[in-house]
Amino acid sequence: MSAEKLYVEGATGSWEVVIGLEVHAQVDSKSKLFSGAATEFDADPNTQVSFIDAGFPGMLPVLNKYCVEQAVKTGLGINAKINLRSVFDRKNYFYADLPMGYQISQFTDPIVGEGHLDITLSDGAHKRIGVERLHLECDAGKSIHDQHATSSYIDLNRAGIALMEIVSKPEMHSGEEAIAYLKKLRSILRYLGTSDGNMEQGSLRADVNVSVRRPGEELGTRAEIKNVNSFRFVGQAIDFEVQRQIDVIEQGGKVIQETRLYDAAKGVTRSMRGKEDAHDYRYFPDPDLLPVEIDQAYVDLLASQLPELPDAKEKRFQSEYGLTAYDAEVLATAMRKADFYEKAVFETKVWSENSGDKIEAARLVNNWLSGEFFAALNKDGLDIEDSKVSEKQLAQLVDLILDGTISGKIAKDVFAFMWEESKDPAQIVQEKGLVQVSDTAAIEVIIDGVMQENQDKVEQYRSGKDKLFGFFVGQVMKAMQGKGNPKVVNELLKKKLA
Ligand code: ADP
Ligand code: MG
Repeated sequence: MSAEKLYVEGATGSWEVVIGLEVHAQVDSKSKLFSGAATEFDADPNTQVSFIDAGFPGMLPVLNKYCVEQAVKTGLGINAKINLRSVFDRKNYFYADLPMGYQISQFTDPIVGEGHLDITLSDGAHKRIGVERLHLECDAGKSIHDQHATSSYIDLNRAGIALMEIVSKPEMHSGEEAIAYLKKLRSILRYLGTSDGNMEQGSLRADVNVSVRRPGEELGTRAEIKNVNSFRFVGQAIDFEVQRQIDVIEQGGKVIQETRLYDAAKGVTRSMRGKEDAHDYRYFPDPDLLPVEIDQAYVDLLASQLPELPDAKEKRFQSEYGLTAYDAEVLATAMRKADFYEKAVFETKVWSENSGDKIEAARLVNNWLSGEFFAALNKDGLDIEDSKVSEKQLAQLVDLILDGTISGKIAKDVFAFMWEESKDPAQIVQEKGLVQVSDTAAIEVIIDGVMQENQDKVEQYRSGKDKLFGFFVGQVMKAMQGKGNPKVVNELLKKKLA
């Protein structure tokens, strides 16, 4: 693993950027952490609220076992230590959307301890980022300020929904690293099925801690940018904040520890409040809840049921299908793309009949998937589940290319028709008369015609102007409306021009 240091140049010398992320990931669970109320997104306000979530006196929270399981799985997915005993604490603060007057969270004894995940940067370098802890906590409700001129409304649907707070170590050094970390984490959560990681719906939110220091010195004072809700904004907020802090220090000032907000419209971070120290929350163990005790056998069972995770899949795609590290990573990061790819590979004739060049077939499937296929999905704004071309159809297209029925060039037209008309490639080839011509006699007639019409160029070619070869290929293909088998055309042309 390379861990090249990145520095930012200021007016008075170099600065090292230090970033740590606190990610709140909503646990994928039908009911809340301590109540049976539903967690569906976008339900009518206050329709998914139990007495516990609304903070009624005397109500007792009952821990949702499934949420514990989800947290343990996530811990295993980030190579972390699972704590067999953890404790729920009350984090006390007042806010209108927090009716209990405290958030149930975990402080001294989180359910998951130290772990790590590996990121890949754009230059292909790998880096390991440490995770400090993962704990379970309740989400708060939502205050709505824009529906009435003089009143605010409170929606408690979100109150009590289980969150996993995943706290990284301060081990990232650029916006790119922070984004790569978030993407990797989201990918793992999705593979595990422990959070849908949907940033637009707020199921994944990042608090971005940023500081700067002179290379080799102690950690600088951090500012925490709250609730950044897109990858792009994370990058922009970091860039702005780094520059702001460098300017403050270089002008003789001091960075103060505070909470800031990112204003995406203006591209700036703004101070929100001074950062409370942890003890201001008066944390103490929640007397309504027993410590959570799980046993190692249970953890081992969950570990044995984990799906293949992105890193393992990436390696396997390289070794089994001969994909480049880059291609394997692109597919493996997105579970559904990876699934689609593998299904399509297995559907090809070469793989299903186990004869022929399997690596070539697997490579072609990837080329078509990451080229035409993803472009078409993007253009129509579709998710891969709603694709107009199935795994099987993509495989059939690759089969037709491999057995020489169509050229790669014609395959592009075939693909476009497949997408528009939802038909199998063989049917399109047949209907549109797109079969590739490999018949040597037919091709020779065309070549003779082209040479006849371009006798001057034939002369030039023969007297050493090799570059003209491409011209002849082009003319022959044009005369054949692109249907000539390129390999045969090339061979015959070479022979005749010699
Ligand atoms: P708090 O809840 O007070 O923000 P946490 O321990 O939950 O504290 O989270 C602190 C986060 O800030 C961690 O992700 C950590 O890596 C990061 N962090 C700590 N010190 C620094 C620093 N000097 N610069 C940047 N990030 C930091
Ligand atoms: Mg925090």
